[in-house]
Formats: sequence, C-alpha cells, structure tokens
Amino acid sequence: MNVDAPSPVALDGQFARDLPEMAVPWQSETAPDPRLLVLNEPLATELGFDPKSLRNASGLGLLLGNRLPAGATPVAQGYAGHQFGFYSPRLGDGRALLLGEIVDAGGRLRDIHLKGSGRTPFARNGDGRATIGPMLREYLTSEAMHALGIPTTRSLAVVATGRPVTRETMLPGAVLTRVAASHLRVGSFQYARAMDDEDLLRRLADHAIARHHPAAAQEQNPYLALFNAVLSAQASLVAQWVLVGFIHGVMNTDNMTISGETIDYGPCAFMDVFDPATVYSSIDESGRYAYNNQPHIAQWNLARLAEALLPLFHEDQEQAVALAQESLGAFHTQYSAAWLAGMKSKLGLTCTVDDEAATSLTGDLFPLLQEARVDYTSFFRSLGAAARGDARLVRSLFSELGRFDAWAERWRALAPDAELMEHTNPVYIPRNHLVEEALAAAVDGDLKPFSQLLAVVTMPFDQRAGFERYAAAAPESFGPYRTFCGT
Ligand code: AMP
Ligand code: MG
Repeated sequence: MNVDAPSPVALDGQFARDLPEMAVPWQSETAPDPRLLVLNEPLATELGFDPKSLRNASGLGLLLGNRLPAGATPVAQGYAGHQFGFYSPRLGDGRALLLGEIVDAGGRLRDIHLKGSGRTPFARNGDGRATIGPMLREYLTSEAMHALGIPTTRSLAVVATGRPVTRETMLPGAVLTRVAASHLRVGSFQYARAMDDEDLLRRLADHAIARHHPAAAQEQNPYLALFNAVLSAQASLVAQWVLVGFIHGVMNTDNMTISGETIDYGPCAFMDVFDPATVYSSIDESGRYAYNNQPHIAQWNLARLAEALLPLFHEDQEQAVALAQESLGAFHTQYSAAWLAGMKSKLGLTCTVDDEAATSLTGDLFPLLQEARVDYTSFFRSLGAAARGDARLVRSLFSELGRFDAWAERWRALAPDAELMEHTNPVYIPRNHLVEEALAAAVDGDLKPFSQLLAVVTMPFDQRAGFERYAAAAPESFGPYRTFCGT
C-alpha cells in the first residue's frame, strides 16, 4: 500500500470525511495476474495522470486499488434502493469501492471508483467480483454515451485480474475503474433517511449541493432547490436517452444519480427496431423499465427522493408534502420540453418551426416507424440524406410508401436543416449484435473487435468509408435480443 503510486495525482476523501456513517473503510483484493485490457488515455490525461504511468506495475496497482497515494482512504459506500419497486434498506457497494476524489484538469472534482474489487461488508451473498464481458460492456457503452453528448459516468480502464470467477460457467475476472461526478444516488438519500438521523440527511444534502448544484445554496429553501435541480437534470437526461434510443434496463433508485449522469451499465442496450414497448433485460419480466416507460420511472424514483428529503423541505410534514408534490408536477413539463426540443433537432427543424407543427409531425411519425418495424437509428440518419435531396435510402425502409411519402412531404415543407440532422443523429451506436460479437471475442482473448468497435462508437456522427457494417441493422439471424444483469 501507499508506495510508488503514479504521481502527481492525490486522492482526496471528501465523501468519507463528510459522511462517515455512509462510508466503510475497505481495501480492494489483490489480483493474481493483472493485465490491462483497455485504458482511456484522453480521460487519464484529463485526470492529471501520465497515461504511460498507468500501464506499468504501479499503474495497474492504482487501477486495481492496491497501490494508492499516501493518505488515500478507499471506502465502500452505503446506500439503499427500490429494486423493481421493492425497497431494500441496505444495498451499498457489495463489489465496488470509492478510492477517492481527484480534482481534474478543468478543476472539477471526480470520483475514482472500482467495480469488481472484491467482497465488502455490503456483499450479502455476492462474491464481490466482476467478469471481463460486463466490464468491457460498461466501458464501451459509457464511452459511446459520452461521445453522443449524454451525461454519464466514464470508464478509465478495465484490468483483467487473472482470477477465474464462477458464474454459470467459469469466466475471466476483471475490474473496471470508473470515473464519475460522484456516486451519490437517490438510494444514498433513502439510506440516510432510513437511519432516522436528520443531521446526517442534512450533511448529505449539503454535500450534494456543494458538489453538484451549488446554486441551490443561495435559494430560500436550499433543499427544495436541490430536489428541483436533480429533477431537472434527470428530466433532461432521460429525454436524451429516449431520443437516442437508449434503454437503461435497471432504473432502480440506487442506479439513479444526483448529478444527472447515467450510471450502472448492466442490462442496458440501444433499441434497434422502433417499438416503444422494447425491453431487452431478461429479468424485467413486467416491462417496468421498457423504452417508453423510462420517463414515468424517473418520476417515480424522484418521488422516492422527495420522500427521503421531506424533513428538510419543511418542519411541518403536510407542508413538506405539498412542496414535494408541486415540484414533482414539473417533471412532465420539463421532460416533454426537452424531448420535443431534441426531436426537432433530430428532424432538422430549426427554431422557426413552432412546437405545435413539430408535435403534430412527430405524432404521425412514430406509428409509421412502428408499423414498418424501422431501425430507429438508421431512420433518422437516412432522413438526413433525404434533407440533402436523396430520399432513396429512407424510402427503402418502408414497404407501404404512400403514407410515408405524405408524411415526408409535410416534413420537407418545414425546410429541414440537413447539417443540424447530421450533428444530432448518430451513424454509429453500440449495436447489440456488434457488442455481443466484440465481447465474445474479448472473453476468448481477442481484443481487436472490441477496440475497433470502441473507435467507431466514440466518433458517432462522422460517417466513414469502410465502416458500413457498423452502421447496419442487425441481421435477421441475430434474433430476439436478451440482456443479463452485469454480475
Ligand atoms: P447493481 O445491480 O449492479 O446495481 O447492484 C445491486 C446491488 O447488488 C449492489 O448493492 C451491488 O453492490 C450488489 N452486487 C451486485 N453484484 C455483486 C457481486 N458480484 N458481489 C457482491 N455484491 C454485488
Ligand atoms: Mg447499481
């Protein structure tokens, strides 16, 4: 411990200092044969590391949490959460650790966190470990989301541990080094509230305000202002997911951040064929976290956050509830406004097009897409080509052309801006069949397909010759897609 850590980076322990009741000091387990699978060099530089220094033995030691700078205090964070609607008072980092916080090149405080670093006191029956496939999947998807401009936790590295991990079969173990604005979740507030310690709840809220929503501190009711800021951040985030076709898959309250970053890439996937009821996760049997249910669930989760914060809103409970309800009522309006603004950009409609015309146009588009089972991402990109005058590609996606042509005529009359569409609609997303192909190869020891796919999806808007395969919809043979929790 505490030797030869790649300098000059220092790891602070603000969370652990401010909120010791929610932080269990803990150590990561050592890896028998560590091997770096992927390192995010631009992110390393942004954090103040010399990327080279993360590739040698002491760098791997830092990425695994075994060799930390002097004074670092890694902790397992406590949190509660509603999982599929059912409350668990004690979840917490069962296989994860917060190594500490770093001030990055832009002066922002960032969490350095591990996933798959061994059992902690929160592990219950879990083994505390993670495997190569799901960790590379989080790396790929989070970096793709970042490149799409969507707030997200980042991935610094995946290190294979050299330890076989027991799942349905034996799989190679790995640790993901994750970077986040923080790991404060709705479930963190539920945990503090359940402790029935108003001082703790207030300290947690103050910590969240200072870190993420500092303007709230100036408001008359700072805690209500914090709640409103989280609500706005989540309304905007979930609108961005829906616009790009992202399905999180496990929007439990412990997987929803206070910062407004996407977190915990488990059974997530991008929708291929447009269908609002799309669910990929094998454990989401009721469709609770289906594509079009995500805004509803975000609001449900925010109601749980409001419940946790009630004692801080007002000393009179009835008045506190009234304030919470009024705030929650704004979610739908904010979400809808963010979604419509984003959808207008996707359709190339500039601010001169009024919202009513845009709403009518979108309202008529989605039934067409659904009936024709059109690939969501390809549709918008090929519609961009139509805005440039070549409608062949987009027309080829529909078999019954009469209704589509009539819709397209109304759309063209609004003078769509092709350039805006090209900046808004990605050519390349992590397509499910390509992700599975890349991860299967990586588990077998071949990282080339993963590296190639990563390079493509981290430049999502620039169409490149020779990469047609990455823009194409899944072949019929790929069949109905199922995802599994990343354990
Ligand atoms: P997640 O589904 O990743 O959001 O995790 C939900 C809860 O299960 C968290 O408290 C995790 O720490 C815990 N967990 C998930 N996988 C494991 C594992 N392999 N070992 C211990 N805890 C785990
Ligand atoms: Mg989680």
